[in-house]
Amino acid sequence: MTAPDPRMRWWGWGEDGHDAPLSAGARALLAERIGPLPADRREPVALDDVRLPAPALPAAARERLVAALGAEHVREDRLARVTHAAGRGYHDLVRLRAGALEAAPDAVLYPGGAEQVATVLRACAEEGVAVVPFGGGTSVVGGVEPWRGAFPAVVALDLARLDRLLAVDPVSLVATVQPGMTGPALEEALAARGLTLGHFPQSFEYATVGGWVATRSAGQASTGYGRIEDLVLALRLATPSGEIATRAVPASAAGPRLRELLVGSEGTLGVIVEATLRVRPRPSVRRYEAFSLPSYAAGLDAFRALVQEGAAPDVARLSDPVETQVSFALAGGPALATRALAGYLRARGHGEGCLAIAGWAGTEEAAVRRRRAASARVLRGHGALALGTPIGRAWEHGRFHAPYLRDELLANGAMVETLETATTWDRLLALHDAVAAALDGALRGRGTPPVVMSHVSHVYRAGASLYFTFVARQQQGAELEQWHAAKTAASEAILAAGGTITHHHAVGRDHAPWLPGEIGELGLSLLRAAKATLDPAGVMNPGKLLDPAPSPGAGP
Ligand SMILES: Cc1cc2nc3c(=O)[nH]c(=O)nc-3n(C[C@H](O)[C@H](O)[C@H](O)COP(=O)(O)OP(=O)(O)OC[C@H]3O[C@@H](n4cnc5c(N)ncnc54)[C@H](O)[C@@H]3O)c2cc1C
Repeated sequence: MTAPDPRMRWWGWGEDGHDAPLSAGARALLAERIGPLPADRREPVALDDVRLPAPALPAAARERLVAALGAEHVREDRLARVTHAAGRGYHDLVRLRAGALEAAPDAVLYPGGAEQVATVLRACAEEGVAVVPFGGGTSVVGGVEPWRGAFPAVVALDLARLDRLLAVDPVSLVATVQPGMTGPALEEALAARGLTLGHFPQSFEYATVGGWVATRSAGQASTGYGRIEDLVLALRLATPSGEIATRAVPASAAGPRLRELLVGSEGTLGVIVEATLRVRPRPSVRRYEAFSLPSYAAGLDAFRALVQEGAAPDVARLSDPVETQVSFALAGGPALATRALAGYLRARGHGEGCLAIAGWAGTEEAAVRRRRAASARVLRGHGALALGTPIGRAWEHGRFHAPYLRDELLANGAMVETLETATTWDRLLALHDAVAAALDGALRGRGTPPVVMSHVSHVYRAGASLYFTFVARQQQGAELEQWHAAKTAASEAILAAGGTITHHHAVGRDHAPWLPGEIGELGLSLLRAAKATLDPAGVMNPGKLLDPAPSPGAGP
């Protein structure tokens, strides 16, 4: 098997042909909220016009890597380097579309198995070549940035060829999987055995199992199914110092959980070469439904009650008033129906209301119906109105579409970015308001007033996560500085308001400056000690998690 072709178009999300042009309604809404967008489209440069540093893999290192993998699996061509030069955050897309990359991997490696990964790591540690483990490349926090650090060269280690379901134990309900399997490939293989993992991040189509585990990912149904760390039973990590394998046991009191140190290690300690995951019977019944809550505060109370009373759906999302208005405005459909719904909600005191989406899945119709009834009872107790299944189904249908819309917004001169956090219930509303105000202040101060919207994306007994989306006119010529100002303001507001710097996007490079504020200097030293043991040369993903690489837009 030769090195696989890139899965995604090099400058954006997914493959060509999925974009829908911005509707007239969306343009009008944006003009009203953030000011008019430029009339002319901003298309990406041609691949040949992308500026790249000359490849600099030392000859001795290349020789060892070719001997280990075969020449066809050590690629130094333009397409391979560009498609591994950035993740898929807003700043990545800005730089890719402009063809202005400060860095690119000097080579892209495609190992064919765990032993080859181990050989590559040993060779790179000995030759002083930095290694960036690469799954789907969907990081939005600079996690796959090809930063050389102190080394003369950096390689991307693409795990696409490690893409098999290795074993299924239907008795214990566990599956052992290679790290390069994407969401659809994994779900298809499990479906053939009547099983599911149930992990559906919005990046599902392209992100990989290894990437999920390395970033402590959360999926859209994680309220019900659990986050990826709840689904990992065991894993194997190849490191420059050798391999660590945790034991596949359901629970253990054998000291601190090593697995927890490796899950979320973001390629800085080694490469996840195998994961054993908890799976469950594939649901045959799914129901997605919308509700309206009379206010955001009532909605938060209702969502807390859902989870604390054991009635939470698998998917639980509560939009704030701004996101609710934007969702209804963009929903399309017959204008008459939209106006009728708005009138109905106003007449019942929900004019400033909030949209909630709830989803339940299971193997039996009656059980799903019972769970739905329990959730609806709690929601009604907090003043909710049931809006039925059409809006819920529309959400399900469009739940992987937002990244395509993002490409289209960039082409129209808009900045669009997301960030996420979590805190306990008592501080959630204050955190929401602080982050929204920080983003608004930072962008308004640059003359680009934003629309800032948010939803509760996952609920826990002790608290919930908040997922923010903000859209503003691009500050042309200073797009990265504009992004950096917004990111900095939001991150500082998050830590000051008692939130975590990231609920599921991970730390990468972009959140690393705030990690000391979250875990303290002693906590950082502990992580550094683990890294010194597993990666003494420091070649594994430099500039991420610890000691961040320079951030785009930060200035000299
Ligand atoms: C449009 C969009 C929507 C998103 N939605 C969600 C969401 O709903 N939930 C969510 O959690 N995240 C989301 N993300 C973020 C991203 O998809 C996740 O972080 C995902 O887990 C990354 O998987 P990946 O395979 O693309 O990893 P990559 O981006 O390739 O890598 C991410 C990090 O993990 C490391 N890594 C990758 N594979 C391995 C491995 N085998 N061993 C060791 N380290 C490895 C990399 O070095 C890097 O530090 C979204 C991103 C985008 C662009």
